[in-house]
Amino acid sequence: MTVMPAETATATEAILEARGLTKHFTVGGNFWSGRKILHAVDDLDVVLRPGHITALVGESGSGKSTVARLLARIYPATTGDIIFNGRSIVRDRGRRRNLSYRSDVQMIFQDPFSSLNPVRRIRHHLARPLLIHNVVPRREVSARIHSLLTRVGLVPPRYFESVFPHQLSGGQRQRVAIARALAVDPKVLLADEPISMLDVSIRIGILNLMLGLKEQQGLAFLYITHDIASARYVADDILVMYAGHVVEKGRVDDVLGEPQHPYTQLLLSAVPNPQEGLATRRMATRGEVPAIVNPKPGCRFAPRCPFVMDICRQVTPKLADQGGGRSVRCHLYPGST
Ligand code: SF4
Repeated sequence: MTVMPAETATATEAILEARGLTKHFTVGGNFWSGRKILHAVDDLDVVLRPGHITALVGESGSGKSTVARLLARIYPATTGDIIFNGRSIVRDRGRRRNLSYRSDVQMIFQDPFSSLNPVRRIRHHLARPLLIHNVVPRREVSARIHSLLTRVGLVPPRYFESVFPHQLSGGQRQRVAIARALAVDPKVLLADEPISMLDVSIRIGILNLMLGLKEQQGLAFLYITHDIASARYVADDILVMYAGHVVEKGRVDDVLGEPQHPYTQLLLSAVPNPQEGLATRRMATRGEVPAIVNPKPGCRFAPRCPFVMDICRQVTPKLADQGGGRSVRCHLYPGST
């Protein structure tokens, strides 16, 4: 299936879409100083489509995990809309619709061990969602559990259903977490750093499992990661996020093949190049992602940007269409100013 960026995908093609999604948190202040508002996510648009993996990439503190929690409805949005199957779910507060949305849009967390009850066997973790959501009659639960374990590569299923989480490796536990998410036949998986706590040697197995699920079952994925190399391996589309703003987006081959935003260039420069051995071409830069509290106008990347100009400190750049499905938020490119 061909990937289309948010601007060109039609509403019928999207399974889940966010428009102008914004999340602010009050983090302090008082009567005299005024409230302090943390801008975790500002004005984010994203389209997730069946059979596609969209990567959301950025350093820790960029706001990418907040996006997953907004889409999963763990956090309410400050402003903006979330559209699932063509219907806004932000304004729809019906309990039945809410339950249905929570089974259609499943989240996979970073730490598979903390999301599993250590005193319960794997069978319990998979049977529970099947029974709560009435996915199958009770007599068919065993067969469905075996099918789920087989789908995620945990074979023989009779063995894996009988063990406790601590008897599994990190990669096997993450496969159980994915099987549990699949138990309710979701349409969308929001995977928040699903490989970051796993050994390097078993990460590729989870990435290949995600690729298999998207290709064979047409699932839509939001893959959240700080690891741009893994995004290049699995994703069709990519959004690069910095300090609450999407700074660049487009097809993954285009964005990573020829990065336009200085921050995307910085992230890519930190990825080891096989031709250059272990040495990297890291761009000279300083600092880390700032917490954006009561932001003033200007580019949020300006304190770290090697190309900073006077205008960057005064005018917030807009995310501007560069053609070919690319968008960039930077005064170096037309349309941003
Ligand atoms: Fe750098 Fe200015 Fe572009 Fe921001 S707007 S990334 S500071 S050149």
